[in-house]
Formats: sequence, C-alpha cells, structure tokens
Amino acid sequence: MRIDILTLFPEMCNSFLDESIIGRARENGFVQINCVNIRDYTLDRHNRVDDAPYGGGTGMIIQTQPVYDCFDALCKTLGKRPHLIYMTPQGKTLTQKRVAELARLENIAILCGHYEGVDERVIEEIVDEEISIGDYVVTGGELPALILADSISRMQPGVLSGEDAYTRESHFSSLLEYPQYTRPPEWHGRKVPDVLTSGHHAKIAEWQRRQSLKRTYERRPDLLESAQLDKKDIEFLNELKNHTE
Ligand code: SAM
Repeated sequence: MRIDILTLFPEMCNSFLDESIIGRARENGFVQINCVNIRDYTLDRHNRVDDAPYGGGTGMIIQTQPVYDCFDALCKTLGKRPHLIYMTPQGKTLTQKRVAELARLENIAILCGHYEGVDERVIEEIVDEEISIGDYVVTGGELPALILADSISRMQPGVLSGEDAYTRESHFSSLLEYPQYTRPPEWHGRKVPDVLTSGHHAKIAEWQRRQSLKRTYERRPDLLESAQLDKKDIEFLNELKNHTE
C-alpha cells in the first residue's frame, strides 16, 4: 500500500514516520509513505501558499492553486487518482472500522490543512472524504494525518508480528482489551492475577474475555451494542449488571 501525505511541513511528518514500528515497516517495504511539500507547487514568485480570508477574520487560508497542482502532479506520478482524504475537525470522526476499510485500498493521499484551513473550492473539487480525529482542534493536519497513516499502516501484512497483534486489541471487535501485565509478578504490593501465571490456557482465555467485557461495560457501554456476544458473554454481562444495580 502507498500513502502520500500532502503537507506544508514534510519534515515534521518524516521525523515521526522514520521511527519505531512505522520506520521499520517503511524500510522493509511493507508500506510506502511519502510526504509531498505543497509549497513546491506554488506559482507565486515569493513562494507563498496562503492568503487572508475573504470576509475578514484572523489567520490565513491555504490557496487552491498549490493544493490542486500538488495533487494533480501526484496523480500523474501514480498514473491513477488516489482516494484523497482531507483531515479536518469538520469531518467524520475516525473509527477502527473505517481504518480497516481504508487499509484495504492500494493508494490513499492525505491532505493536511494548516493555519485557518484550506480554501473550500479546492476541497469541493478534489477531496473524496473528510476525516476528524475528534471533537477538538489542533494547529495543523500533520498530527491527524500521522494518526491516520499510522493506524492504517499497522494493519498492513508484515508490519506487526501477526494479525493477532491488532485483532485482539481495543476497538477491533467493539470491545476494549483486557488489562495486561509483565514482570515482576509483584510490584508495590500489587500482584499479577494468579490465573495469568497458571499456564492454564483455557482459563486464561476465559479471564481475558471476561475482563474485556467488564472494562467495556464499565468504560464504554455504548460499544457493546455492536460487539459480537455469545450466550456466555451475555450471561456474564447480566451478572455484572445485577451486581452494580
Ligand atoms: N478553521 C478550522 C475550523 O474551525 O474548522 C480549523 C483549522 S485548524 C486550526 C488547522 C488545520 O488543522 C485544519 O485545516 C485541519 O487540517 C487540521 N485539524 C485541526 N483539528 C483537527 C481535527 N480534530 N481532526 C483533523 N484535522 C484537524
């Protein structure tokens, strides 16, 4: 899969993308992530890419021309049009479900706004989808784009140790993950639950499932509506409900 990030701050993105799991995934060719500088496409002789908003107000707006030409050049390089996502607090909030769907595409491009945003006309003209990372505002689209690129990349084959590494995690199947522990077995008087050191795989699996249900019930009961629950899960949740009522 190839992801192209269209930004005014490619170094900001690369400093993150070169590190750790995503850095190794790029190096090993499991995912291709490319940062394109929108400023390289401006036709302004002073290299400007933004201007003041019509109608007044604070901040600057990124202009149509450099964004359009940057995307157009990318389409020509790829020989096709990638699915273009604009990161904006006005978009649909990102979910693990949408991440999984996007992870199946061959090419995506992500447009980062900055300052007060991007001229609406170029968004209307070229953007396929608008995504938000949550109901708050950050200074630019780079962090949101990196969140999207990271969450998609870790689902590419080879990036993590196996599918288990993400299918068992929070949100994949609408449940939060069970609590996790590592050595030492006791710390500050707090012991690791005995079952986890018992070596009894079936009991461990049952404990993890129940902890996962309990956490979701306590912290995000809204998620349970879309979770796949069997008879045993429902019985356990009913027990929990009766206890807390
Ligand atoms: N004036 C815009 C508004 O009120 O909707 C906010 C502009 S914000 C300061 C600058 C850029 O940061 C946006 O164009 C967008 O790319 C990015 N951004 C900020 N918050 C975001 C969020 N919650 N999700 C995705 N992108 C965001």
